Amino acid sequence: MELQTTLEKGTGVFATRNYQVGNIILSEEAYAFVTLQNSSLSVCHACFRSGHSLKTCSRCKFAKYCGKYCQRKAWNDCSHRWECKAVASLREKKIPSIVRLTALVLFRACSPNNRNEELLNRCRKAPYVCSTVPERLDYLVEKLRCFMKLSDYPEKNSLESLEDTFLASFIQMLEMNAHTVYDSEFNTVGVGFFYKASFMNHDCRPNCVALFSGGFQSVSITSVSIQIRCVRPIDAGEEIVISYLDVCLSWLDRSEWLLEHYMFTCCCSRCKEEQCSENWTDLKQDWKVINQFTAISVQEERVNKNMLTSYEKMKKAWRKCQQCMKTYPNCAIFDWKRTEIVSRLGYLCIVLEKYSEATEYLELYMDWMKKKPEFANFPTVALEMLKLGKLYAYLGKLKQAKYYLEKAKQIYEKLLVREDPIYRTCEEELGKVMAEYEWVMQQKDQLGVI
Ligand SMILES: [Zn+2]
Ligand SMILES: [Zn+2]
Ligand SMILES: [Zn+2]
Repeated sequence: MELQTTLEKGTGVFATRNYQVGNIILSEEAYAFVTLQNSSLSVCHACFRSGHSLKTCSRCKFAKYCGKYCQRKAWNDCSHRWECKAVASLREKKIPSIVRLTALVLFRACSPNNRNEELLNRCRKAPYVCSTVPERLDYLVEKLRCFMKLSDYPEKNSLESLEDTFLASFIQMLEMNAHTVYDSEFNTVGVGFFYKASFMNHDCRPNCVALFSGGFQSVSITSVSIQIRCVRPIDAGEEIVISYLDVCLSWLDRSEWLLEHYMFTCCCSRCKEEQCSENWTDLKQDWKVINQFTAISVQEERVNKNMLTSYEKMKKAWRKCQQCMKTYPNCAIFDWKRTEIVSRLGYLCIVLEKYSEATEYLELYMDWMKKKPEFANFPTVALEMLKLGKLYAYLGKLKQAKYYLEKAKQIYEKLLVREDPIYRTCEEELGKVMAEYEWVMQQKDQLGVI
């Protein structure tokens, strides 16, 4: 792969040879990474492994580690050694994760024996993108200055001379180019800046997906890395693109999200196809209400775990989603919205223990995805297949269970390492179903003989 600059999208990553589905295009360790507000209590700060017996740093009482190895590692590679004091002094004031990440990236990039001029210049060269809420950026810059001042970074005086506009652009550069790190079930565990991967542009019909590894995947992995895996055959010369958001969102949601978080309007082929010229003003209000109960809220739910956890709230969301299914007319623009809603309904039904109903919604999801071969190898689709296979197995519908578990396994075989817990779950579930299936078949044969 190589970097190229195009007029429409700026710098991007391009393939220099052909790739097949499942190929790893890029694998790299994080330049810097931090936990998020919601994960900082429950995961190791050095490898993102979750656990109940995490040890807390005795100095800042904030950083948590799964063991001595991770604690030593975070101290020796300086990431925690430099920030520990700042974290300790500012703990009560809650430091935004992006401030910690920016500080760690700057510490590393400005280090005198390994200065990364290229990275520092990246936002000097790039035009300063104005935030929609400039006060927010001012606030973050102030927090960052304060954090760096209180840190133990040996060269912190040199950081004081950095201008506010530079720091603001740097924060924005990271907000737009850092990756949210999630496990294979798409639970958010942290945020990391991956140097090479950060050049990859967005496309709503991407040819690659970003997957992560860390302690959440296997005890033996002690650092956080990203893997860019190919999900469609790629020819030499083609741009490597990933999606910055869930591909299962409607055009309206995608464009609003991209504009709000990444400050651009997507002009990809899928957006052109799905773009709607109709007047959306009336619908937008409605859409917002639905979104409280669908995909976007799932993201928020992960960040704020208590938001929808109570049974009553789940029930309300389930009712609302059912209503939405009936309200919207049968036309192309609603197809993705409906897909998003049925996937959400599947999840809600599982929580509400309406298993049979859950299979009906997930089947609707599968019906739609079958028409979209470009997403056939997506890990999000595999996860829904695994869910559906497990539901069928629970309901004793072994033939259907076998069908979906096999399909999920086929996708995971291409994309994941065998140690990945989700791959193992899939394999185990399939093993159980197969054994039971064979037993039932044998019984049938014997009965047939009698
Ligand atoms: Zn660890
Ligand atoms: Zn500490
Ligand atoms: Zn697009």
